[in-house]
Amino acid sequence: EQKRLEQRLEHLSVTDELTGLYNRRHMLARLDEMTSESARYGGDYALASIDIDFFKTINDSHGHPTGDRVLRQIADLLKSRIRRTDLLARTGGEEFFILMPHTRTEDAVQVVDDLRQRLQSETFRNDAGDVFDVTLSAGVIGWQGLAPTTRRLLAAADKTLYRAKREGRNRVLLANQSDLFPERK
Ligand code: GH3
Ligand code: MG
Ligand code: MG
Repeated sequence: EQKRLEQRLEHLSVTDELTGLYNRRHMLARLDEMTSESARYGGDYALASIDIDFFKTINDSHGHPTGDRVLRQIADLLKSRIRRTDLLARTGGEEFFILMPHTRTEDAVQVVDDLRQRLQSETFRNDAGDVFDVTLSAGVIGWQGLAPTTRRLLAAADKTLYRAKREGRNRVLLANQSDLFPERK
């Protein structure tokens, strides 16, 4: 009984309640492990920061409960498409992260852009049955061997995501190397 309770608490501490995905805290812990691993053994690593476009408008037009349902539908779509070795987390309101160990940068971009296209063609409905579209913007980062600090990875992901928004949303952009390694010329 004690053991089951411990497992239950352990599960709760790493899980996002709304979607059942991993939460931000767990993603950050795994990201730290990933950067140590890549520094020690080398190899290719990638991550993606994903933000749903105009989500406030979805809530405003269709209501918060529909917004919640949309978030679960998005989570299911992402979950069904990523590989078993990837880690998918809901890291904020309408924000998701995917950690992709042993993945080349160009493959990561491909995977995330495939998710973008699938989301775009997915059908969403409000309580009245009206159909509407949902799109995402994403920033992808790839590195080999010695990784930038976690802090810099997150900052570069943020910056790239912001650029995707500014350039018109519904797109996946790759981070500039200079955002990851400003000291390298
Ligand atoms: P952008 O394309 O620039 O990302 O626009 P946006 O409207 O998605 O961005 P913004 O950050 O302004 O809005 C995010 C919205 O997501 C605001 C908030 O009400 C909504 N939101 C956050 N968490 C939840 C949630 O758990 N459920 C629902 N239904 N809405 C949420
Ligand atoms: Mg957001
Ligand atoms: Mg958004």
